[in-house]
Amino acid sequence: MTDRYAVFGFPIGHSLSPIIHRQFADQTGQQLSYEAQEVKPDVFNEALADFFKAGGKGVNCTVPLKELAYEAVDQLTQRAKFSGAVNTIKRLDDGSLLGDNTDGIGLLTDLCTNLGVEIDDQRVLVLGAGGASRGILGPLLEAKPRQLYLANRTVSKAKAMEVLFSSLGRIQSSSYEDLAGKQFDLIINATSASLSGSLPEIANGLLSPNGVCYDLAYSEQPTAFVCWGLQEGARLSVDGRGMLVEQAAHAFHLWRGVMPETSAVLKGLK
Ligand code: NDP
Repeated sequence: MTDRYAVFGFPIGHSLSPIIHRQFADQTGQQLSYEAQEVKPDVFNEALADFFKAGGKGVNCTVPLKELAYEAVDQLTQRAKFSGAVNTIKRLDDGSLLGDNTDGIGLLTDLCTNLGVEIDDQRVLVLGAGGASRGILGPLLEAKPRQLYLANRTVSKAKAMEVLFSSLGRIQSSSYEDLAGKQFDLIINATSASLSGSLPEIANGLLSPNGVCYDLAYSEQPTAFVCWGLQEGARLSVDGRGMLVEQAAHAFHLWRGVMPETSAVLKGLK
């Protein structure tokens, strides 16, 4: 029987995950199906139970279901525990559900391995303190930046993250205004502002000469933040398609025990 996987989200029509996982399966010779299911938060637990009762092997969760998925699973990986959100669920042999979060490792793989960006000893700024930000802060701290600033429109949320991650390393929370006069080698936009074509209220001049900008959001046209980075003289200003493919590869690895090759898939999406 073909092993069945799915991505749950709302809305889900735009999801590239079925295309990515189909290519991973073809490339590694794995027999599996992967479908997109529109699941609203109020029926998430029911949809999850139905999927696994029908023999499903694994589920990816995207906006706005990652926190609900965190609550729904029986066990969590260490990185999922820290991120407070689950994007990958695996049904274990005993029927219990394991929750993982591959967003952080997906970002770091794209940034460091694919794009050759250094984080060690660099001044890094993360914009946004939502679910995605929570998933990437742990891996960013592990990469040993010289400074890691976290700015958010609602400053109390950034402050809460500073406290939450304090055992892993130093995060300096800030408002956008208080960033004035500082400079960063890498600025990561983890807000959802690009999805509505807008930018967080950041001042010009925050990016160091030859700095790098990375927008977690992605779209067919360059996002507002990618454009901002180019205007600010970034040597590299890219969107989150690479992260999307890399987080999917780590989910595929958790499910199938084999790591797919990502460069051809990413090239196809670009
Ligand atoms: P959340 O809804 O959890 O958080 C949204 C964040 O964006 C909050 O910090 C919010 O600030 C901020 N925000 C929203 N609009 C604005 C605005 N106009 N100006 C300033 N700040 C704003 O979303 P997620 O964290 O789940 O997702 C964030 C982004 O990351 C999305 O674009 C998503 O598509 C992308 N993403 C990409 C992935 C990939 O693989 N490439 C994986 C995961 C996410 P406040 O707290 O003040 O409301």
